[in-house]
Amino acid sequence: MPAVFTLFGMNVVHDTVKLPSSLPRPTSYKEYVKFMSNQLYSPKAITPALQQDKLDVQCQVRARIPTMEGGEMHLFLYKNNKDTKEHMAIVYGDDIRSSSLDKTWENETIMNRVVRGAYYGRLEEIITDETQYTQLNAKQWARLAQQQAIAKEAWRPVSEAPLVRIHSECFTGETVHSARCDCGEQLDEAMRLMQQAGRGVIVYLRQEGRGIGLLEKLKAYNLQDLGHDTVAANLLLDHPADGRTYDIANDILKDLGLSEVRLLTNNPDKIEQLEAFGDIKVVDRKSMVPQSWSSSPPLSHTPQSTPKKELDRYLAVKVTKMRHMLDLPTSILPQ
Ligand SMILES: [Zn+2]
Repeated sequence: MPAVFTLFGMNVVHDTVKLPSSLPRPTSYKEYVKFMSNQLYSPKAITPALQQDKLDVQCQVRARIPTMEGGEMHLFLYKNNKDTKEHMAIVYGDDIRSSSLDKTWENETIMNRVVRGAYYGRLEEIITDETQYTQLNAKQWARLAQQQAIAKEAWRPVSEAPLVRIHSECFTGETVHSARCDCGEQLDEAMRLMQQAGRGVIVYLRQEGRGIGLLEKLKAYNLQDLGHDTVAANLLLDHPADGRTYDIANDILKDLGLSEVRLLTNNPDKIEQLEAFGDIKVVDRKSMVPQSWSSSPPLSHTPQSTPKKELDRYLAVKVTKMRHMLDLPTSILPQ
C-alpha cells in the first residue's frame, strides 16, 4: 500500500516501500518538488539551442485537446529566436508532425518525450488505480516503449496539401466577441472546416491588432468611435495599416513538413508574402465568406442591427482599402 504523509498541509502519496534507498523520502517542499520533477523529466536532458545566424523556430510541446464539439486537435507551441511570444499551430490529423519536436534531445528518456508530446499514435492508459506510484514499473515501461515503436512504424508523412489558415491573435474579436472584426468567426469556421476534413493546420500568430498590439489597437477603437475607419485609425496613430509578418508562420509550416497548402484567406497580401519565402506553394485558396453574407442576401427593408453595421463597415474597408478578395453585397457597397 502506498504510504500517505503530510507535507506543508498537502497529503502526499509516497511509495515508500518500492523506492530504492538511494531515493530518500523528501522532507521539505523543495525536495518534494525536485523528487516529483525527476520522475517526469530526466534532469540531464538538454533542450537544443536555437540557431543564432537566421530565424529559427522550435516546437517545445504538443498536446491533444479534446473539444466541446466532440472532435479533437493537437496544439503545438513554438519558441523562436525573433521574439518572446508563444506562437502556435492548431493541428488536425495525426500525419502532420513537427520535425523540431520529434528530434531526439540529448539524454532524454521516453517519459521526457511523452511529457513534451513527442510521442507517436495515441497514448494508452497505463496508469491504473492499482498503480498509483510515482514511477512506472518495468512492465509499464516496456509496454510504453512497445506501443511507441509500433505507432512510429505505422506513421506516414503528409501526402496531400492540407487546409491551412494563418491566423493572427485577436483578443477583441475572439474572446470578447467584438463586432468590429470577423476574426472570431474566421477562426471558428477554419476549425470547423478542418475538423470536417480531418486534416488541417491553423498557424496562430501572436500579433494582435494586425501587428500593433492590444494597447494601440484599443486607441484605434476610440478613433473608430469618432468615425475613422480601421485603416485610417492605424495611420493616425503612426502605425502601418497592416504590420503583420509571416516569416515565423512560414518556418512553422516548414517545420510541420508542409510544402503545399490550400490556404483559407481573403487576403492577397498573405499569399504573396508567404509564397515570396519560396518554401511553401499555395496550390488553392478558399474564401472565408462572412456568415452574415453567406446565406440568402438580407432583404433591403430589414433593419440592420448595430453590430452587423459595424462588422459590415469593417469588411467593406478590408475589401476597398486592403484588396481583400470578397464580393461585397450590394446593400453595403460604399456610396
Ligand atoms: Zn479581429
